[in-house]
Amino acid sequence: MRAQPKASHFVNGSYFEDDAGDAIDCIYAADGTVVARLYEATDAVTEAAISAAKAAGPAWAAMTGTERGRILRRASDMMRDLNQSLSETETLDTGKPLQETLVADATSGADALEYFGGLAGSITGEHIPLPGGDWAYTIREPLGVCVGIGAWNYPTQIACWKAAPALACGNTMVFKPSETTPLSALRVAEILKDAGLPDGVFNVVQGRGGVGAALIGDNRVAKVSLTGSVPTGKKVYAAAAAGMRHVTMELGGKSPLLVFADADLDKAVSGAILGNFYSSGQVCSNGTRVFVENNVRDDFVARLVRRLRDGVIMGDPMDEAVNFGPLVNEAQMGIVLDYIEKGKSEGAVLAYGGRRTDRNGFFVEPTVFTDVRDDMTIAQEEIFGPVLSVLDFATEEEALMRANATPFGLAAGVFTRDLTRAHRIAAGFEAGTCYINHYNAAPVEMPFGGSKLSGVGRENSKAAINHYSEAKTVYVGMGDVEAPF
Ligand code: NAD
Repeated sequence: MRAQPKASHFVNGSYFEDDAGDAIDCIYAADGTVVARLYEATDAVTEAAISAAKAAGPAWAAMTGTERGRILRRASDMMRDLNQSLSETETLDTGKPLQETLVADATSGADALEYFGGLAGSITGEHIPLPGGDWAYTIREPLGVCVGIGAWNYPTQIACWKAAPALACGNTMVFKPSETTPLSALRVAEILKDAGLPDGVFNVVQGRGGVGAALIGDNRVAKVSLTGSVPTGKKVYAAAAAGMRHVTMELGGKSPLLVFADADLDKAVSGAILGNFYSSGQVCSNGTRVFVENNVRDDFVARLVRRLRDGVIMGDPMDEAVNFGPLVNEAQMGIVLDYIEKGKSEGAVLAYGGRRTDRNGFFVEPTVFTDVRDDMTIAQEEIFGPVLSVLDFATEEEALMRANATPFGLAAGVFTRDLTRAHRIAAGFEAGTCYINHYNAAPVEMPFGGSKLSGVGRENSKAAINHYSEAKTVYVGMGDVEAPF
């Protein structure tokens, strides 16, 4: 299988190659074969991309929101028409099952383009009446050149979740995908171009962290939006602060999922599966600490293990019957297997899985630990793999306190039939995105993002508009101007 793009980068409306950069091999995680070779951006490539984005800004910002939105919505339609081939690219890029990518990646990207395309014409300021007949108004202005930097778990979605609101507001963008998954963002750029996007408005450059750092360090850049880990987020935030640039940080987590005895246990098991094993567990908002009320703990674990034993189909992700794929690369597989060993050595009980299953691809079985204590490594650190920890609790107060006892604050969930308790718990969670009797849904209409170490700002929904534009205030004096002398 080959997935070689026309060139490594997409700059100023065209594919662009410079093979002087270090090679980036794109590896299919299901069998370890190289499906494409790309080259890291050289200084000449990043310079060309930022120059193109800067030059394209004024004309793009001068278009009406309706005109900009029309292009984004056309791109959304094209993405839906191309869903099959985009999903196949995404599967080659990430190793995620086609069964998933067909419904969760290009479609989610298309949703963002459609939503922000529809919103673009309504991005306005406000009128503020003031004493004495004076008044003020605000103009929502684009920030300028935005840099988007992506993680490898949802490459198409991340590119669109950043590009769609940025472009709707009249900004331009240079996007750097993760070096692990360089393919999908190029397809997004090509589609935007075919939908009528002016050259230079959306550019893609490839590279590792150094290329991201070079982009952030450029004084023509007004904003940086990162999806990545907390350690990278700290570096990127600090570098952006040096230039007083706006930031959005979508970072990692160690989110809690609370299951009360009065919950519909089958639904709670579904929530735990969605929150731990979708995309082989490589989802930032995963509810990896599953707190289950003592008296239903055994029942919950038995139902969960049965669902995994009977339901998981591992295999070639290109086979649409397969519902559980490999980890994205060998390094991530190693990290996950190390955590599994730590879980065992620190005394957690392995209730299911725990092994690598395939010698060529990077498959790790869905894994369930029980008897996990809060101080164990697997309960404290983000694993970013298919490892679920079951912890027991006795009271609501205890569960909420332990759920919040983490430096992360991305997501949290609760399963219960008690209406008042559900809302009490949601109010008490220290997390940006909370779920009651569901887990991990992220429709574009709702704000998504983290608190505490898990991030700054929100993606999606009307909230994203405020993170890709700023208010200019205009005071209008209508009467005399009184001065002290
Ligand atoms: P990562 O932090 O290793 O890399 C993220 C991106 O940052 C990559 O493109 C990388 O090249 C770039 N980068 C690395 N160092 C940089 C630097 N100094 N300056 C600029 N850019 C730099 O993350 P990853 O391993 O690709 O992704 C997994 C992580 O992403 C997990 O922690 C996960 O929770 C998080 N994530 C968060 C969300 C969210 O929305 N909150 C979504 C997906 C993934």
